[in-house]
Amino acid sequence: MPEITVEDLNEIDDCTCIEFCDEDPKTACGLSGAPHVHPETPGFPGVTGPCPVHPGRPGDH
Ligand SMILES: [Zn+2]
Ligand SMILES: [Zn+2]
Repeated sequence: MPEITVEDLNEIDDCTCIEFCDEDPKTACGLSGAPHVHPETPGFPGVTGPCPVHPGRPGDH
């Protein structure tokens, strides 16, 4: 079992990526199934802008 460091936990805290967003067909996008970001989506409050941990992740808008 890999050791989890404080840095890892901070990364998870800061991560705004979404991997699966297809629970509601109205809010799902074509990138569901792979980590990506939603710049701003009514169904995902608080998810805004690029992920601070993974700035290279694709967005859907
Ligand atoms: Zn992320
Ligand atoms: Zn999506």
